[in-house]
Amino acid sequence: MSFKALGLDPNILTAIEEAGYTEPTPIQAAAIPVVIAGGDVIGIAQTGTGKTAAFTLPILTRLTANPVPQGQRRRTRVLVLAPTRELVAQIEENVMAYARHLPLKIAKIYGGVGEKPQKDALRAGSDIVIACPGRLLDLMEQRCADFSQLEYLVLDEADRMLDMGFLPDIRRVINQLPKKRQTLMFSATLSKEIETLTHEFQRAPKVVQIGKRANPAESVTQLVYEVHKHLKMPLLSHLLKDEKMQMVLVFSRTKHGADKIAKKLESTGVKCATLHANRSQNQRLRALDDFKTGTVRVLVATDIAARGIDVDGISHVVNFDFPHIVEDYVHRIGRTGRAQAIGDAISFVSPDEQPDVRKLERFINRGLVRKKAEGFDYNAAPQPFSDERPERREQRSSQPRRPQGGGRPGGGGGGQGGGRPGGYGGQGGGRPSGQGGGQGGGGRQGGERRSSAGSAPRQPAQMPQQNTTPDGARGLWKRLTGR
Ligand code: AMP
Repeated sequence: MSFKALGLDPNILTAIEEAGYTEPTPIQAAAIPVVIAGGDVIGIAQTGTGKTAAFTLPILTRLTANPVPQGQRRRTRVLVLAPTRELVAQIEENVMAYARHLPLKIAKIYGGVGEKPQKDALRAGSDIVIACPGRLLDLMEQRCADFSQLEYLVLDEADRMLDMGFLPDIRRVINQLPKKRQTLMFSATLSKEIETLTHEFQRAPKVVQIGKRANPAESVTQLVYEVHKHLKMPLLSHLLKDEKMQMVLVFSRTKHGADKIAKKLESTGVKCATLHANRSQNQRLRALDDFKTGTVRVLVATDIAARGIDVDGISHVVNFDFPHIVEDYVHRIGRTGRAQAIGDAISFVSPDEQPDVRKLERFINRGLVRKKAEGFDYNAAPQPFSDERPERREQRSSQPRRPQGGGRPGGGGGGQGGGRPGGYGGQGGGRPSGQGGGQGGGGRQGGERRSSAGSAPRQPAQMPQQNTTPDGARGLWKRLTGR
C-alpha cells in the first residue's frame, strides 16, 4: 500500500517523501483511513512502529481540507497530550516535519522552562498544541489558551495518561474542551481496565490494533542476568567492556540510583549522561542530545525516558533495576529495536526481583532467556564504594562481612541443582518461570541455570521461543510491512 492510497494531502505526501518514508507501517495503514473518516480511534501497536505519524498525518489532512476562513482569528484546533517533556519535544519535531509545507503554527508546552514564550504561542492561537498536562493546566488557569474551537484531541501513551497519576489532570483539561471533537488515543500497551476509562472521553471509538496488546517490540532480544544486588554495578561495567554495547540506555528505578550508577561508570572511564526529574530541563535536553550524538555512550535514566523517546541506534537497554510495573518493562525495552532495527534488552534481576519477572512472564505469556556473563565472578564479595570515605572503608574491612542478598557471604556457592531461595552464583537451578527446565534440575526458584559456555544460553532447544537473531527481527519487519 502507498501513502497516496490513504488519501493524504499532497503537501503532506511531499513531506513524507522527504522524510524518507516509502510506505505506511501497519498501524498507519490501519488508522489513517479511520481518522480521515472522522471517527474516534484507539490505536494499539508495538513501540517504535510509527504511531506519531499514524495520528498526525490524517489530522493534518483534515485541517488542510477545512481551513479556517480568511479573516477569522486563529484558534487552536488540535491538542496532543503526552506524559513527558522529552516526548512532547519529539512529537513536535515530527509534526513540524510532516507539516513543513503547510501554513500551520505549532506550539509545545511543558514545565521546567520559562512560561513567557509558551503563553505567547498559546495567545497567538497556534493551530496545533503539543503539551504535558501539568504546565498546560497552569497556563489554562491563567487564561492563556483558547480551546473553544478545538476539533482534535490526541492522548499519546494513552494508558499512562489515564493511569491514576495523570487522570485527575487529564480530566481537568478535557472538561474544558468542546464535547464535539475527534479523540484519538495511542499506546503500545492498553489494558482492558484502562480501555473502559476511554469511554469517558471518546465516542464509539474504533480499536485499531496491530499485534497483541502488550507485546514488547519483537525485534528486541530479551535476556535476564540473575545477579545479586551488590554485583549489578560490576556486572554492568563488565558487560560494557564489549564494544558491541555502543549506545546503551540504562534504567534505574530511582533518581538517586541513576546518579550513583552514572558516577560509578564515569569513574571507570565510561562516558555517561543522566536523565531524571531532578535535573533541570536544560540538563535533560543536553543529556538526550549528548546521547543522540554519541558524545556519551551510556544514558542512565529513570522511567521518565521509558515512553516514546525515539533515539536512533540504541543498541542495548539495560534494566539495572527490574520494573515493578509490567507495562513499564514493555516501554523501556521499546527504546531499542525501533523501526526495523534490532536491539538487546538486558535485565539484571536480584533474588528479591524474581516475583516481578514472573509477573512479567505471565503478562507477555512467555519466559525470558537467562544468560550468564562470560568471565564474570558471580561469587565476588561486595566491594566498598569508591565514593565512601577511606576511614569508613577501613572500619568496614576490619569487621566480619555480612551476608548479602539472603545468601552466604558474597552470595556464593549455590551448588549443583539446588539453589537456595534467592541464591545466585552456583550451578544448576531451574528457571524462575518454571519453563524450559534446564540442567542440574530441581533447582528452587531463584536458582540460576548453569552455563559453561558463558555467553550463550545452554539449551536453546528448551528455551522459550523468541527472536534472538537479526533474521528474526528482519522477518518481523517484513511481516509487518511486507518489505
Ligand atoms: P514512532 O513510533 O512514531 O515513535 O516512530 C518510530 C520511528 O519510525 C521514527 O523514527 C519515525 O520517523 C519512523 N517512521 C514512522 N513511520 C515510518 C514509515 N512509514 N516508514 C519508515 N519509518 C517510519
